[in-house]
Amino acid sequence: MALDVLCEVKNCVHNEGGERCTATSIFIISESGKTASSQKETDCKTFEPRDA
Ligand code: SF4
Repeated sequence: MALDVLCEVKNCVHNEGGERCTATSIFIISESGKTASSQKETDCKTFEPRDA
């Protein structure tokens, strides 16, 4: 479990209580390649919707 990953994405299968991530590891990507210039350019690729 990723103890220190706080996350508010409550419809992700890895989310617990709308507060934290329970995935063993997470993979974060940048929308603009290998660098990012703001938080908005980063995404969690480990996200999986609950209803999928
Ligand atoms: S996998 Fe990503 S989106 Fe899902 S709970 Fe963890 S950090 Fe949040």
